[in-house]
Amino acid sequence: MKNENKISRRKVVASLGATFALAAASPALAIASGKAKPFSGAAISDPTKLYPKPPFKFQPQPWPGLQSKMDPMPDCGESSYKGSGRLTGRKALITGGDSGMGRAAAIAYAREGADVAINYYPTEEQDAQEVIALIKREGRKGVAIPGDLRDEAFCKQLVQKALSELGGLDIIVSNAGRPQAAESILDVSTEEFDSIMKTNIYAPFFIIREALPHLPPGSAIVATTSEQAYNPDAWLYAYGQTKAATMNYVKSLAKQLGPKGIRVNGVAPGPVWTALQVSGGTTPDKQQTFGDWTMFGRPGQPAELASIYVQLAAADASFATGQIYGSSGGVGQP
Ligand code: NAD
Ligand code: MG
Repeated sequence: MKNENKISRRKVVASLGATFALAAASPALAIASGKAKPFSGAAISDPTKLYPKPPFKFQPQPWPGLQSKMDPMPDCGESSYKGSGRLTGRKALITGGDSGMGRAAAIAYAREGADVAINYYPTEEQDAQEVIALIKREGRKGVAIPGDLRDEAFCKQLVQKALSELGGLDIIVSNAGRPQAAESILDVSTEEFDSIMKTNIYAPFFIIREALPHLPPGSAIVATTSEQAYNPDAWLYAYGQTKAATMNYVKSLAKQLGPKGIRVNGVAPGPVWTALQVSGGTTPDKQQTFGDWTMFGRPGQPAELASIYVQLAAADASFATGQIYGSSGGVGQP
């Protein structure tokens, strides 16, 4: 026990050293840590003062957006997340692992001792390579698997590649998602509707079905749903229903897979400052005031949700299944 503590403390110090070295070596990451004031881990901190508040600069990007081009850049815990061996030896596949919540989970998982494969859309290579570098700095295996989740054949390849590169899988984080804000249902094209359904509903089905025969008892599936599942905005007609479907499949699969020893849970974020919001996720007028309606007067940052993704995957959460953990700044009702 004493020895384990020593090892984990040593790992924490090594991980911090590596983080600062990386921040110094990578201007993009140095900016990331400089612009969005990260919280300091153990120290008590006032959530109203932690992170940037609106108004934000109007900064539209074409879908799916790059978080490295955002101002301020989202904080995914690059310089703040401290691991303590909670996922030692685990093998995780995270969709949307290049940016936002998926990136925060990928960084945290690596610092907790897991090997991590990330999927992302091919145009997001720049964000993805930063994440792979951060995973490798922890001495963990980082595997980049770009591709379009709307394609069933690709989803199968993704799982098979993650299995062979990591030598197995015991954590699936089905996190990738696509919104498209539209004032009216009349503005939603069939193509857009189809893309949202394929990405948010079909892809998790394809991926989980392909992975399931390979998941040992003790595995964890974590899905990213949303406050929109419970209290959908008028302009997120298509997206809101996919997040309700996500919440629903978590509860159904938890019942189905519980007897096999596989836990299934979801995370329901409120408004979080990510690339998705500047690439079609919210209406142009709300980009600048994004998150001012939360109890803290600001949007969340992905780093503030990282510990939830860790908690739901960790072996000591062994009684939690079929649950939705909310983190929304006081809005929405998971
Ligand atoms: P993000 O843009 O950083 O991440 C979303 C990722 O989804 C992208 O990086 C992209 O890699 C992936 N993706 C989308 N379509 C894809 C496709 N066809 N093929 C491959 N990858 C694809 O934004 P985020 O906010 O971190 O989003 C993560 C999850 O959180 C999503 O499911 C989103 O719906 C959910 N969510 C976000 C918020 C918020 O306010 N940001 C709130 C509630 C829920
Ligand atoms: Mg991205």
